[in-house]
Amino acid sequence: MSINKSSKEKKVVIIGGGPTGLFAAYNLLEKGFTVELYDQMTAVGKKFLVAGHGGLNLTHSESLPTFTSRYGKDAKRFKPWLEGFSPKDLREWCKKLGVETFIGTSGRVFPQKFKAGEMLLLWLKKLKENPNFQLFTKHRLKQIETNKKKLGKGNDLPKATLIFESENQKVSVSIFEKQTAVLFALGGGSWSKTGSDGLWIEALQNLGLLVAPFKSMNSGFECNWSTHFEKKAQFKPLKNISLSFQKQTSRGELMVTPYGIEGGALYPLSGFLRDEIEKNQKTNSEMGTKVYLDLYPDLDKEELIERLNKPRGKNSLSNHLRKKVKLGSLAFSLLKEVTSKDILKDNERLAETLKHLPLKLLKIRPLEESISTSGGLTFNNLDDSLMVSSLPGFFAAGEMLDWEAPTGGYLLQGCFSTAYHASDSILSYFSS
Ligand SMILES: Cc1cc2nc3c(=O)[nH]c(=O)nc-3n(C[C@H](O)[C@H](O)[C@H](O)COP(=O)(O)OP(=O)(O)OC[C@H]3O[C@@H](n4cnc5c(N)ncnc54)[C@H](O)[C@@H]3O)c2cc1C
Repeated sequence: MSINKSSKEKKVVIIGGGPTGLFAAYNLLEKGFTVELYDQMTAVGKKFLVAGHGGLNLTHSESLPTFTSRYGKDAKRFKPWLEGFSPKDLREWCKKLGVETFIGTSGRVFPQKFKAGEMLLLWLKKLKENPNFQLFTKHRLKQIETNKKKLGKGNDLPKATLIFESENQKVSVSIFEKQTAVLFALGGGSWSKTGSDGLWIEALQNLGLLVAPFKSMNSGFECNWSTHFEKKAQFKPLKNISLSFQKQTSRGELMVTPYGIEGGALYPLSGFLRDEIEKNQKTNSEMGTKVYLDLYPDLDKEELIERLNKPRGKNSLSNHLRKKVKLGSLAFSLLKEVTSKDILKDNERLAETLKHLPLKLLKIRPLEESISTSGGLTFNNLDDSLMVSSLPGFFAAGEMLDWEAPTGGYLLQGCFSTAYHASDSILSYFSS
């Protein structure tokens, strides 16, 4: 059976009910538009809920230039979008929704008392209160048929038809020139159980659009641990450490796992490490790459040597290190795993190693597990308004676009800011 929705009222069709699509819906309803939001899942915002599991880091309080620099090669592109809807604006919007926020010690911004689920409920309530909003869950976008040849000004034919699959039925949604705008907010390619499965790629590629392959970002890495160490590496954290790779340094926590490493200190470096491993693979120069762990970022080498040189008495080396430099058992096992016995006998070399422990990383963990993905619809398909150049009236925003940023609130802020910009652009599209 096939359903055809060919209403010609002026409206915006949003596909994807993650934070990007939901925020665009909020803005567009405020601007007076009719909004239809389609999502393939039984409920919207599933990845947003997952993001809330470890504390929902909405954005960051650092200065806007520093914030902008987190978008790496796309920083220049993101600048006007972040200025248009800044971290401060996001906090004010949360407040308007009834969600007070606070700045944590790291400068990251979190909801004060609400969990992600409660915030999502408030957000959806605001949308559903608006009579111009309609939500269609269990609608999977399968295909987009364009009707370029038959189009002309004043033509009654739709310029495109969106084909959804909903509970084994085909649902067609007609898109009319200057009557309907479409916003793709289809998300990235990790955590497919949240709906972010990246399967939309085919529908967009069939329109001739370029989509860069998804890559893991903010992800763990695999190491070739010995069987002996693997048993000790049971998702335990090394706290207050720093990691460095080339000129980049990152502080925080590192989780040691049976397959390798994970955690907050690693994620900001993950894009650089992933690219280096890929480069080395192509040039056959080295298998994997190395990241350097400083177990004592607040102590300099001389201070460490002084402490290590204190009399050891009858203490074993592990006890001596535990007593004199507070080295925990996991860190000691890791030290033994990756260094030679000679180093352990020489305090100067030992101090140097404790501050510069090489960890060989073989490959990044799979897409499915990563917090975010880079790759997606490339920016050269879009103009500055985030409109698809070859398909006027079709816009895209959020994680489905080909950009990457570390954890720290930059992902959600990137989604909110691009959604805001696309909503503004849709207004201009209708009024031009
Ligand atoms: C474990 C984890 C923790 C995270 N923590 C944080 C954090 O603390 N701070 C932060 O800034 N970011 C965090 N993120 C990242 C953040 O959640 C994402 O960047 C954000 O959800 C992306 O929003 P989006 O709306 O662009 O895409 P998504 O949230 O992925 O939403 C896309 C939507 O599109 C729908 N869809 C996809 N294909 C189709 C189709 N063909 N038809 C119809 N609908 C479709 C999906 O069902 C989904 O609902 C975290 C992510 C994970 C996995």
